[in-house]
Amino acid sequence: MAGILTSACVRAARARLKVTAVRQIHSSHDVVVVGGGIVGLATARELILRHPALSFVLLEKEKELALHQTGHNSGVIHSGIYYTPGSLKARLCVRGAALAYDFCDRKGIPYKKCGKLIVAVEQEELPRMRALYERGVKNGVRDLSIVDAKGIREREPFCRGIAALDSPHTGIVDWRKVALRYGEDFEEAGGAVLTDYEVSNISVASESPAGSSEGMRYPIAVRDAKGSELRCRYVLTCGGLYSDRLSQISGCSREPRIVPFRGDYLVLKPEKRYLVKGNIYPIPDPRFPFLGVHFTPRMDGGVWLGPNAVLAFKREGYNVYDFSAQDFADALSFRGLQKLVLKNVAYGVGEMYRGVFVGAQVKILQKFIPELQQSDVLRGPAGVRAQALDRDGNLVDDFVFDGGVGEVGSRVLHVRNAPSPAATSSLAIAEMIADEVESRFSL
Ligand SMILES: Cc1cc2nc3c(=O)[nH]c(=O)nc-3n(C[C@H](O)[C@H](O)[C@H](O)COP(=O)(O)OP(=O)(O)OC[C@H]3O[C@@H](n4cnc5c(N)ncnc54)[C@H](O)[C@@H]3O)c2cc1C
Repeated sequence: MAGILTSACVRAARARLKVTAVRQIHSSHDVVVVGGGIVGLATARELILRHPALSFVLLEKEKELALHQTGHNSGVIHSGIYYTPGSLKARLCVRGAALAYDFCDRKGIPYKKCGKLIVAVEQEELPRMRALYERGVKNGVRDLSIVDAKGIREREPFCRGIAALDSPHTGIVDWRKVALRYGEDFEEAGGAVLTDYEVSNISVASESPAGSSEGMRYPIAVRDAKGSELRCRYVLTCGGLYSDRLSQISGCSREPRIVPFRGDYLVLKPEKRYLVKGNIYPIPDPRFPFLGVHFTPRMDGGVWLGPNAVLAFKREGYNVYDFSAQDFADALSFRGLQKLVLKNVAYGVGEMYRGVFVGAQVKILQKFIPELQQSDVLRGPAGVRAQALDRDGNLVDDFVFDGGVGEVGSRVLHVRNAPSPAATSSLAIAEMIADEVESRFSL
């Protein structure tokens, strides 16, 4: 089951957004933004607030906005502990979390600052926990502390561990709701949103409409496969799981490539929700970018456990049996993925095993909450991460953008990698991309 949230508030926000599903569109704009996930929406909003006199349009291939990574995630407002001090990830997360709380306060979007414990269950994890504490402090995360086993029980009565890093400003929110609100701001400022517009070609406009100077003023054509064409001066793509293909269709580099990793969640049965109050995370394995299976309360009162991380056979495949021949062939033929798989066979098999056998996943979770039983959980939703990978099989961990050369390449900016916690960082990412757009293009 896909974890798309359809609460009353999300439905209301969707209704307020005047998204248009029309065909055969022929119009001209200063900037076309491709991708209606949280990164595209936040950036479109930031750009139009800075440049209200320009014409912007945002194109989304689905009939609704924010259905993919933005609508299938853990819903955590991260505080910025994990990331290398000085990295973009660290800076954008800390600033992004502050901006996100402020945005939610101003727009009346509900969130809960329920905190997070990163729990050490083995002695050997203690040095890594202390290193995380140092990182968090260096990154400017406020009010971090280390608590002992008694401190853990005071915060999470059913959680067992030797010690934990306590992050009281970590929170939870419905990121899809936040993204839809960015879209409303964009439209209120005069931006247009077109859904059901799957961009299939970005190239130099072939000819000007008769009797006009459109071709010179708007030299780039953005087309979909159904015959619509928009003209523009500049294009920004924020395509998430398709960021490499969007780059390729505009004649820019295909690398880094996107490899989809599916994460399956379990959910606690309602009568067992009392076991978890806030976020409970493991000490992460430094070899992998994913944070490990965790306990996460949801805004609707539910509790999600997971996710694992297994190679998906389809980029937007939320079910175990979803398969796309193109995505599969694409992934298999990529040397970077072949190298990654060879390096991590044991880890990959373990993740798949835990995905199939719920008992194996529960066993890991019992290290944190021993009272948890297999009969307390149900299979839940899934999300698919856009993991960027280089040709040597290295996971690209930080934010990446690039453009190209020539008439098209010099007018296009591609967001190539917006990894977790890009939802938390979205407003800070939007500021950075808008700065980059302003420095590359003559808006
Ligand atoms: C399982 C999971 C858990 C996560 N947990 C967290 C968390 O707790 N906290 C956090 O901060 N982050 C989390 N993240 C990360 C976060 O969700 C993503 O980094 C963020 O949503 C990325 O947003 P995006 O806009 O780049 O991508 P997306 O939300 O995937 O949006 C990309 C959009 O582009 C559209 N598109 C693609 N190709 C085209 C085309 N050709 N034409 C038109 N439109 C196109 C897609 O349809 C899509 O709507 C998690 C991610 C996953 C997968």
